[in-house]
Formats: sequence, C-alpha cells, structure tokens
Amino acid sequence: MHVLVVGGAGYIGSHMVKWLRQRGFEVTVLDNLSNGYRDAVKGGRFVHGDLGERAALDEAFGRAPIDGVMHFASYIQVGESVQEPAKYYLNNVSKTQQLLDAMRAYRVKHFIFSSTAAIFGEPERTPIDESHPKQPINPYGRGKWMVEQMLQDYDAAYGLKSVCLRYFNAAGADPDGELGERHQPETHLIPLVLQAAAGRRSHITVFGDDYETPDGTCIRDYIHVDDLCQAHGLALQRLWAGGASAVYNLGNGNGFSVREVIETAEAVVGHAIPVQYGVRRPGDPARLVADSRRARTELGWEPRYTDLATIIAHAWRWETRATVARPAGENG
Ligand code: UDP
Repeated sequence: MHVLVVGGAGYIGSHMVKWLRQRGFEVTVLDNLSNGYRDAVKGGRFVHGDLGERAALDEAFGRAPIDGVMHFASYIQVGESVQEPAKYYLNNVSKTQQLLDAMRAYRVKHFIFSSTAAIFGEPERTPIDESHPKQPINPYGRGKWMVEQMLQDYDAAYGLKSVCLRYFNAAGADPDGELGERHQPETHLIPLVLQAAAGRRSHITVFGDDYETPDGTCIRDYIHVDDLCQAHGLALQRLWAGGASAVYNLGNGNGFSVREVIETAEAVVGHAIPVQYGVRRPGDPARLVADSRRARTELGWEPRYTDLATIIAHAWRWETRATVARPAGENG
C-alpha cells in the first residue's frame, strides 16, 4: 500500500514516515519545508511543494496510485493564530480543502487528519471524551474543527472516509534517537525544559502557578510521538478494511503538571533546571486530559511509552545529540 504523508518533514510527520517505511509501506512525502527538514525524511519519495499548489498535488498524486493520505502539514501556534488568523485559515482550512479535492480528483478515498484537543476549548468536564462539546477558543482550534466538519460533509456527499485523531500533547522522540522535535521557534514545554537543562536557554518560564490544580500549574496529557504513529497506522488500516469514518481522542489518560514535567526532567538529566515563574499564558485551560478509551477499544491502540520519564528520556537523547542542526537564535 502507498501512503501520501503531507507534512512528512515535520515533527510528527517525519516519525510517521519512518514508522510506515519500517513496516514496508510505500511512502510519498509532500512538504514545502516551511517548518520541516529534508533530512528528517527517512526514505520514500519526496515532493517539495505546497499543498495549495496544483502542480505539487499532481506530482504527489499522479506518479503512482495513492491508497491513503495522512495530513500533518499545519501551523500549530495558538498565539500566532490569534495574531494572524488569515495565515491559519488559509493553510489549515483552505489548503486542506484543496488537498481533499485533489483526493477526489485522483479517487483516493482514505484520509487521516491530525486534529487537536484545541477543538474542545475550555473543558466542561475531564477526562475529555469524543462527545465533549466543541467550543474552540482560538483560530487554530476553530480551523481544525472546521476541517472535521468538512470531512463529515465530504463523506456524506463523496464517500471520502476519514479518521480525525485529536492529539493532546504530542511529545517525545524517536526511540532510536534518529528523529525528534525541531520547531522554530520552539514553544512546547518539554523541549524548552530540556533546552534549559542543556544550557541552551537560561531558564524555563512556568506560565502561571495559580491554577486550580494540586500544585497550581497546568495539567496536560503528554503522548509519545511513536504511540501517535501507531494510532495513525491502525486508523488507516481500519479504513482500508471498510471501517466507517471516525474520530478519536489520543492521550495517555494521565495528566502531568508543568511542575511534574520539570521535576521528571531533572531526574532524567540528573541535575537541577533553572526555573522562573511567570504569568499565565492567555487561553491555557487548567487541565486537559484525554479519555482515549474509544481508540483503545475500536482501533486496538495500545500506547507503549506512557511513562513520562521515558517520553522525556527519548526527547533528551534527541536534544543532546551532537549532530542536530540547531536553528539560529535558539539560545537564551
Ligand atoms: N508552558 C510553560 N512554559 C513554557 C511553555 C509551556 O509553562 O515555556 C506550559 C503551558 O502553559 C501549558 C503546558 O506547559 O500549560 C504545555 O504547553 P505546550 O505549549 O507544550 O502545549 P499546549 O498545551 O499549549 O498544546
């Protein structure tokens, strides 16, 4: 089977490409390298182009029959989406629709979409299951929810089958140490904590310690990138077996506070990490934890790396790898 991985040079996409190749799938990657790295694509055919460009889509779909599409190519910064909604709606919504229309043109029927816990907005209850109300509070979350709804309509009208995977906090790195997170700028907690641990930042700032949680810092559900890949593989296989379109929340089911992440990281790296306490980041709910039972029962998904120390240890191995090309301006 041949899988088109859109955004296959990015953080989660590059792990997915490796996962698919290791299991014998044919892979084509379409990526404009705006946030990805060519050297992160370990195998498969690479098409350098934008998912909004007709020629790039033709190049990606036209060479060999594609059996399924996984779509990782989206902008992911919530704060930026508030400042620049046009950028987010253009890429994450309009260009995603162009991708879906290319699938229609090339008669590709199976689609796996990277969705997000941000579609739920401020949680009404926790852990959050699939039926929790969708009230996204920023353009990033709203765009993802729009695509989920678009996919329902495309299934009803065109028979395009999809699985929306709503990630909670994707984290960790390739257990082999070959791939990891290289966002520029980095905004995610675990890589920032580890960069502070490695001395590449002066400290980590905790965004608020006055939340209504046991230690006052926000609680999140960190899910290993390799376990996310497993869920994508199972989801696509389910569609290939004739399964209906579906949505799944993907998390560990275990919440960890910012302070627990820092303490676990200190244990992993073996020394103290400089911490400063700052104000809350706008739009951060106190607690986001997934109820992933549906993915476990329907997909047979079994996350392997549920231990926070393991997730951080894999990220640390990547962070301390001598050969990682460090983006400029990462210090301080
Ligand atoms: N966070 C923090 N300092 C940072 C970055 C993140 O305290 O420099 C907190 C953030 O407020 C949230 C948690 O860490 O409670 C996870 O944030 P991240 O940006 O990694 O993921 P998000 O939950 O926003 O998807």
